[in-house]
Amino acid sequence: MALNVVMMGPPGAGKGTQADRFAAGRQIPKISTGDILREAVKAGTELGLRAKAVMERGDLVSDEIIIGIVRERLGRPDAARGFVLDGFPRTVAQAEALDVIMSGRDPLVVVDIAVPDEALVRRLTSRWVCRACGANADPGQAGVPAATCARCGGPMSQRADDREEVIRERLRVYARDTRPLLDYYRARPTFRAIDGAQPADRVATALDAAIDDAARGARGA
Ligand SMILES: [Zn+2]
Repeated sequence: MALNVVMMGPPGAGKGTQADRFAAGRQIPKISTGDILREAVKAGTELGLRAKAVMERGDLVSDEIIIGIVRERLGRPDAARGFVLDGFPRTVAQAEALDVIMSGRDPLVVVDIAVPDEALVRRLTSRWVCRACGANADPGQAGVPAATCARCGGPMSQRADDREEVIRERLRVYARDTRPLLDYYRARPTFRAIDGAQPADRVATALDAAIDDAARGARGA
């Protein structure tokens, strides 16, 4: 059975990192819309050229083009055993289109990495910065970043960020835009919510267990 995973989570939940890790561990592709959009533009596919023209005008790429590019990507042989979608779908319309794309394939497992706003604000407002060269540690990682700088080996220290209102606004917009999507998926037997407030390695373990459990349940159904 293929592991067809949609990974959701607010900014700062570490979703991209978890998606990378899960996909690598299961040897299935991680598919993010940003990456496949860039790939399609570079490869000069018909949809890629249309997306390029839109972006060059400074406009947002339409659902139709994004969905077409996702459809193409999910049809490639390496996605036959499964995939992890990161950043798609973003809207109910995209989720409905994804269901059409997935008809006849194994069911989607949808996981939401849930983190309370207060914890996200704490993570996103505290940046780890190298005292020697000024490089930033990935703030999405939360937990405890490496004690030394990945670039120069210097000591990392934490500094407060003063843009808390900006972060709260981002989280508010995310919650508003994502609620309909969560409502769309929540009732499915293959939907799982993960406690994303734990350290990253515990989140990883919980994700593994939840995705396997959901896939097993779908197989038994
Ligand atoms: Zn450094």
